[in-house]
Amino acid sequence: MSPTRYLLARWILPINSPPVENGCLVIGQNKIEKIITRQEYEALEIRGKLESSKDYGDAVILPGLVNLHTHLDYSALKHFDTASPFFGWIRGLIGNSWQWTAEQWQDSALIGAREIALSGTSCVVDSSYSGAAAYGIARMGLRGIVGLEIFGIAEEKADQAWQLWQAKYEAFHNNADEHVRRAFAESRLLITVAPHTPYSVCPALMKKTLEWSREKGLPLLLHIAESEMECKWIAGPEPDVDKFLLEATREDVPGGIASLSWRGHGLTPVEHLAKYELLADNILAAHLVKVSDSDLELLRQYKLSGAHCPRSNSRLRNGVAPFPKLAGSGMEMGFGTDSSASTDDLNVLQEACFAWDLHRAVNPEFNFTSEQALYYLTLGAAKAAGLACEIGSLQSGKLADIAVFDLSSLPEIARSKPSDSLLYGPRRLRDLYVNGAMIVQEGQLVANSPLPV
Ligand SMILES: [Zn+2]
Repeated sequence: MSPTRYLLARWILPINSPPVENGCLVIGQNKIEKIITRQEYEALEIRGKLESSKDYGDAVILPGLVNLHTHLDYSALKHFDTASPFFGWIRGLIGNSWQWTAEQWQDSALIGAREIALSGTSCVVDSSYSGAAAYGIARMGLRGIVGLEIFGIAEEKADQAWQLWQAKYEAFHNNADEHVRRAFAESRLLITVAPHTPYSVCPALMKKTLEWSREKGLPLLLHIAESEMECKWIAGPEPDVDKFLLEATREDVPGGIASLSWRGHGLTPVEHLAKYELLADNILAAHLVKVSDSDLELLRQYKLSGAHCPRSNSRLRNGVAPFPKLAGSGMEMGFGTDSSASTDDLNVLQEACFAWDLHRAVNPEFNFTSEQALYYLTLGAAKAAGLACEIGSLQSGKLADIAVFDLSSLPEIARSKPSDSLLYGPRRLRDLYVNGAMIVQEGQLVANSPLPV
């Protein structure tokens, strides 16, 4: 039997081209073949047509969503602390998880991966301390890029830290279980490097991660300019961050933190990275809250991509990132929810909805549309992650990562505006396909799902 399947719906949103009303998405084994109209579908005379068709009726079919910044490792720490200032919160995060076993990390990551799938997200870009995020993504049947985190502030120890990370990378591959191996075999999972931040990774070590990622053709995942404290510490002395770094990295810095020669030059985090030639077009930067216009010019010049995480930035009191300027400058951008420890949920549509309301509140001139939000949730994010050749739009030859949302419970005025309805809700996910395989069916994880629904 031909693997061709026909998915019909009131709306198909290819993203790279205008919406198709009453359309039919034709998919093969794991790739998109084409979009035809319902009339063209009805005129098809082929054997087994009905058995290989699904008519979603009043629904919208679009590319699976992309969440550009998560830490699935911490999914079990939902709402663990919503009150502390940023560095107190990070301390709490470490304090609550540092003794977890490998199994606990995996369970936590799986909770997040399940939430990701049930929100219509097919692809996740994750920075992972333990590596368990890759397990969650693989086991849930999702697509993902996982950056194994690296820290190290002492330049003298950069070689050593890099060797340790490479050993961690090797061990990750050697110890991969059947789910991770299968995700590799299906090209659903990439493992890369995630130097944590400009203040927790010294330039010598950052350089090694950048060279390695560029050699491998992988994105490098990095938090940049997330908090005021980060900016202060990079520019000059900031004892609270000193204290935090000593505690968090447990690194023995020869001469003490005050002796670090690579900070204290009065620069912004972006200027600091530029000074050490650490800006490059394969960097996917999360947050970008504290960026000046001249920082923005550097980001644009070196073609970095960005993940906008407005709910986490708000909860952690870090401010409002200049998303309209970043996106308006031509940077490839998408949304990231960050971890469950700093946001209500891992639903990236909710992130976009919050972003649009927030930017309207702080700038009445903000005039981005719901169609643009969907772009940043799909094709824009795929470009930012370096995956736009494979995913992000419903185009012939791209992989069949597809989300289907129900519109039937909405009034006709909402059903006639699918982008608005998706952005502002209420939304109900019906099906989610990754690589042509259905992983959510009628709002439920498919059989053999690892966690109870
Ligand atoms: Zn983060």
